[in-house]
Amino acid sequence: MIPTPATSLGAMRHSLLAKIFGTCFLAIHLPLIAIILYLGSGFSTHHPGPVLGVLLGATLAGTIACLWLLWRFFAPLRHLARAIEHYQAEGAPIRLQISRKDEIGTVTRAVVNMVAEVESLMKSLRHQASSDPLTGLHNRRWLAERIPVEQARAAREKSPLSAILFDLDHFKQINDRHGHDTGDHVLMAVSEAVRDSLRRYDIAARIGGEEFCLILPRTSKQEATVIAERLRQTFEVLVVKPLPHGRVTASFGVYEAASSDSMQQILLHADQALYAAKEGGRNRVFALDRTPV
Ligand code: GH3
Ligand code: MG
Ligand code: MG
Repeated sequence: MIPTPATSLGAMRHSLLAKIFGTCFLAIHLPLIAIILYLGSGFSTHHPGPVLGVLLGATLAGTIACLWLLWRFFAPLRHLARAIEHYQAEGAPIRLQISRKDEIGTVTRAVVNMVAEVESLMKSLRHQASSDPLTGLHNRRWLAERIPVEQARAAREKSPLSAILFDLDHFKQINDRHGHDTGDHVLMAVSEAVRDSLRRYDIAARIGGEEFCLILPRTSKQEATVIAERLRQTFEVLVVKPLPHGRVTASFGVYEAASSDSMQQILLHADQALYAAKEGGRNRVFALDRTPV
């Protein structure tokens, strides 16, 4: 098929090479076109001055037009480069209007899509690295990163920070008697109950098989004990078939952190409280008094 001028123009819109070639061709030939028009118009050629003036003017116009068009052709590439720099420096998402159909449009679209894919992959990896797949709660690694942040905030605000460690009672028996799947359902039900009962700024993590840790900002030992007691009662009435009513219980250790406590010390003291709750007969809350400094 012989290309019509319209299809040639359409093809040109899709090709950066064709655009650049067309622009340079016109710019180079502008003096020639101008002089032909000048001569065709019957102006005198006896004096070289006007002829040189036309040539010079056309050369200048061709150069400026060429530069301006090339500047415009490459504008999306400059925007893309700036957006990539911005993304690398600040992680700002790349948002570009891409109407171009040539190679620059194709490259820009590909980069925007690739960055969006990388971002979504990173988000999903970050989520996987910080959460527990069974319960959807945070995991121990995430907790280890967050406790120092919460401690620093508590120190800044001069507010109390408490930790609750709880462990399900005789959980091994549930697995042994009713199967691992039932055990998993208990873990999920318990986590759901925890999620429902915490405040927006509280932190909950599953830090072991059937062991959980809650970090409660702006919460004293007394308040944390009330929260732990409420959770204990919630677990007692959980219905997880085929377990008998009241079979899911947990023992709770409560500890209010001192500002000098390291993260390990907070967890250690909460664990001591939990151990005391287990020793005391399970399905109970034990709050550890801070050792006087
Ligand atoms: P205690 O009252 O002293 O805490 O006794 P326990 O039976 O709860 O404690 P123990 O440490 O003896 O058993 C914990 C069990 O938790 C053993 C392990 O098989 C089970 N477990 C750990 N992770 C999972 C899990 O992801 N799913 C299920 N279903 N069971 C798990
Ligand atoms: Mg247990
Ligand atoms: Mg345990």
